[in-house]
Amino acid sequence: MSQDGQAETLVIIGSGPAAWTAAVYASRANLDPLVIEGEPSRDMIPGGQLMYTTDIENFPGFPEGVDGQDLMARMKAQAEKFGTRTMMENVASVDFAVYPFVLRPSYSPEIRAKAVIVATGARANWMGLENEIRLAQSGGGVSACAVCDGALPAFRDKRLAVVGGGDSAMEEANYLTKFASEVVIIHRRDGFRASKIMAERTLANPKIRVEWNTKVADVLGDEFVTALLLEDTNTGERREMEVGGLFVAIGHTPNTGFLKGQVELTPHGYLVAPYAWRTATSVPGVFAAGDVMDDYYRQAITAAGTGCMAALEAERWMAHHGVTEAESPVLETAESSIGHPAAQMA
Ligand code: FAD
Repeated sequence: MSQDGQAETLVIIGSGPAAWTAAVYASRANLDPLVIEGEPSRDMIPGGQLMYTTDIENFPGFPEGVDGQDLMARMKAQAEKFGTRTMMENVASVDFAVYPFVLRPSYSPEIRAKAVIVATGARANWMGLENEIRLAQSGGGVSACAVCDGALPAFRDKRLAVVGGGDSAMEEANYLTKFASEVVIIHRRDGFRASKIMAERTLANPKIRVEWNTKVADVLGDEFVTALLLEDTNTGERREMEVGGLFVAIGHTPNTGFLKGQVELTPHGYLVAPYAWRTATSVPGVFAAGDVMDDYYRQAITAAGTGCMAALEAERWMAHHGVTEAESPVLETAESSIGHPAAQMA
C-alpha cells in the first residue's frame, strides 16, 4: 500500500536497466512508481546482471566504457531524482486474479497495485564453482555473454574457453573467433545438443576445437583466469589447460517462478507479450520489460528500451481505463478500446 493506505498506482518489479528506465519514465509522468528491487542472494543481486561486469563498452553515451555497478547506480539515482520510491525485497508471489493486483513481498505486508511492470530479468546459469563466481563478479575474465565482453582488450588473441553444447554455446564460440587466437569448447558429452546446422558450422570453423566428454572442475587464477582444471567425464582424470578467458554458455533461467499460474509464460518460463512491439502480457494491466520477456537479444540497451515501452504503455492503459482516478478500471470491449491490446485481452 502507498503511505495513504491506497493501492499503489504502478509497481515495477526488478532493478536492472529495464526496471530503472521504466521508473524514470513513470516518475516523470507523475505515476509515483514503487520499484521492488529484489534482495541479494547467491545468484541475483539488486541492480541486475550488469552488477557482475566491470567494462560495458556497448551502452550508448559512454565512449570510454562504464562500470556495470556505476551504470546501475546512475540509473537508480536518475529514477529517484524524479520521485521513484524503492524497497529491497523480492516479490515472493502475486495474485493477478483480483484487482487491484496483490503483490506479496518476502517480509513486508502485501502491496496492492493498479498496474504492474515485471522486469525481473533472466539469470545466466553458472556451473556453480566458487572461483568461477568470484572471477565473474570481479571482472576476472569469466563471463556469460560473448557479445557483451568478447571484444574487450583483455580477451584479444588469447585462447578462450566456452562451456556448453547448445545453440548459444555454438553462437558464443563462433562469435569469439573474431578476437581469440583459439576457441576451445568444453562439453561434458560426446555430441552437441545444438541444432545440426549450428553444430556443423562450429565444427567446420578452423579456429574452434572441442574437448568432448570433459567438464570444468575448477577455474584457476587469482585476479584473472589463467587456466582451467579439466576432468574427463568418463575416467575422472584431471589436467590443466591454459586459457585467457572463460565464457559460460549453459543457458538462462527467467526469474518468473513467483508468477506461475498468474500470467502466460513460454514453455521455458519467459513472459509472453502476445502483441508485436508491445509489452502488454496476457493479464490487462500487467506489462513486461527486459530479459524476462526476451530470450533473443538479452542486452542492456534492449532491456532499457522495453522498460521505456512498458512505462508508456502502462501510462496509456491507465489513462484509457481511468485507472489513476478509480479503484477499478473500466475494461472495455475490443470494439470500444481502439485496438488497445490490454483491453482486447480483458
Ligand atoms: P536484470 O539486469 O537481469 O535485472 C533483474 C533484477 O530483478 C534482478 O537482478 C533482481 O534484483 C530483480 N528480481 C528478480 N526476481 C525478482 C523478484 N521476484 N522480486 C523482485 N526483484 C526481482 N549487456 C550489454 O548490453 N552490455 C554488456 O556489456 C553486458 N555484459 C554482461 C555481462 C554479464 C556477465 C552478464 C551476465 C550480462 C551482460 N549483459 C550485457 C546483459 C545485460 O546484463 C542484460 O541484458 C540486462 O541486465 C537485462 O536487464 P533487465 O532489466 O531485463 O534484468
